[in-house]
Amino acid sequence: MNTPSAPTVLLNNGVAMPRLGLGTWPLKGADAQRTVAFALNNGYRLIDTATAYGNESAVGRGIRAADVAREDIFVTTKLRSSDHGHERTLRAVDASVAALGLEYIDLFLIHWPVPSQNLYVETWQALRKVLADGHVRAIGVSNFKPAHLERVIGETGTVPAVNQIQLSPLTSQAEPRAYHRNHHILTESWSPLGKGTDLLGHPTVTGLASKYGKSPGQIVLRWHMDLGLAAIPKSNNPQRIISNIDIFDFVLTPEEVESLCALDTGAAQPVDSDAMQPGLMGPETP
Ligand code: NDP
Repeated sequence: MNTPSAPTVLLNNGVAMPRLGLGTWPLKGADAQRTVAFALNNGYRLIDTATAYGNESAVGRGIRAADVAREDIFVTTKLRSSDHGHERTLRAVDASVAALGLEYIDLFLIHWPVPSQNLYVETWQALRKVLADGHVRAIGVSNFKPAHLERVIGETGTVPAVNQIQLSPLTSQAEPRAYHRNHHILTESWSPLGKGTDLLGHPTVTGLASKYGKSPGQIVLRWHMDLGLAAIPKSNNPQRIISNIDIFDFVLTPEEVESLCALDTGAAQPVDSDAMQPGLMGPETP
């Protein structure tokens, strides 16, 4: 069998990003290192980590242990909420580069807007400097609502390359997706499998799995691809790591894509509630 690989998409600054990658929360230590190396050796070229996951060093060791050249790997990491602000952001980028043991980061995201701190525009200005200095190849955000995006674009003139948001058939985020499309922002789905729970047993998903001879997880990940999104499923199970990227030999019909969108419950995690206050953002926060 040929090792499957994900196609790339061009970000709004011309950098190519793989559309499917490995999520690494809550992997730690040797487990994170082994899983990252295994995924890279089995076709993955995008790895998603964050300072808040406490695994950047282990992820970096996994990248170095894999039989894949650094320039062929796309590494995303994220700024934790306690590092918002100009100087802290500059220091945090350097710390992430050092922790990963890499010379540069491919995509650096603001992890949460934390509107109560009101520092996300200043933080975005700092990331524009980091981009200009060449420490990162692209900059973006995560968990930003259209109103937050309006502010950063309006006040800085720089459009984030990516907004990484909670997105699966259960939280299909039609409005943010449309906003992103209109502003040339790539939508990247976190918890793309709905955390691997009820969604994968839903009759609409299992029915399509039977029709195509695929697993429920593969059907859901194909849905992300057919909507034009990027996705970062997490698994540390070797079989599931391999099957999650083996989705590029079939497509869903537009009606099937719609039937999965119809599972939306509208129950996305809040981005501006107390739960997102920096004091409550522990090292285990995804
Ligand atoms: P996912 O939707 O990726 O689900 C992961 C769960 O599904 C795990 O329990 C995994 O178990 C299981 N799983 C994986 N593949 C399959 C499959 N094919 N069939 C059945 N079960 C499967 O949720 P996550 O919350 O982990 O999100 C993915 C990534 O998104 C995170 O790792 C992180 O990198 C990122 N993230 C970003 C956030 C942000 O704020 N920007 C917030 C949350 C996550 P097993 O390992 O045993 O296979």
